[in-house]
Amino acid sequence: MPFRHSEGRQNAVLVCLVTLWLLFIANGVDAQGWRDHRVVGPFVCQADFPLVEYDHVFSELGQIQQELTARLGLPPAQEPIAIYLFETERRYRDYLRQQFPDVPYRRALFYKDQGPGVVLAYRSSQLEVDLRHECTHALLHASLPMVPLWLDEGLAEYFEVPAAERASENPHHSAIKWNMRFGMVPELKRLESWQRLDEMGRSEYRYAWAWAHFLLHGPPQARQTLQAYFADVAAHAPPGQVSDRLARVYADPEGALVEHFKRFR
Ligand SMILES: [Zn+2]
Repeated sequence: MPFRHSEGRQNAVLVCLVTLWLLFIANGVDAQGWRDHRVVGPFVCQADFPLVEYDHVFSELGQIQQELTARLGLPPAQEPIAIYLFETERRYRDYLRQQFPDVPYRRALFYKDQGPGVVLAYRSSQLEVDLRHECTHALLHASLPMVPLWLDEGLAEYFEVPAAERASENPHHSAIKWNMRFGMVPELKRLESWQRLDEMGRSEYRYAWAWAHFLLHGPPQARQTLQAYFADVAAHAPPGQVSDRLARVYADPEGALVEHFKRFR
């Protein structure tokens, strides 16, 4: 009899739902396997492990948004940013393989195609650094139509260390001073020619960081140059290159960079 059959199926579904709900109550795991979540500013984070020991990092992500707005005049993120965190590298790799099969493997990554950006990482010893780094990319791309690679990576390297260490205790700091003592001064035009991440090794990340540091902590004209550049990008006006803008302010921008690191305490 159809009615009874249907009734029996409804009961079975109900029993399944109740069982799933009891399992969720018992383990704190939802149907997709997420155990914990956080919503901070534009970030909506899901994790398959408890996040309580990372709460300070989530408040730092909110501070990075405030700094980008207050110091560089960027509009706040215009769209939500999803973060997916995995307890083990294996679960992270499995998820990447299923959801982003064409994306090359990295310990953590920021991905954005047509829709809102996504940050993915696993619980390695570097998770806090990874979150600050990838979420800086995510914030930049959630408020600007484009960011040149060197500046994108330079700012992410800058914001990846805890706030108290950003100005003078980034591991790049002493290395760049040594580079400069040996006359290794990164020419901004060369950085601006980079198009792909695989063109960047450790020194290239350091050089990108050095120019970002100069633009943030150098003379006031340096930061104003970056603010004006970002204002044009945000307004969809052709922004040109930062190097050309700096050349209108400094006769020798690379010399100004060296001078900045000689004087900076
Ligand atoms: Zn990066």
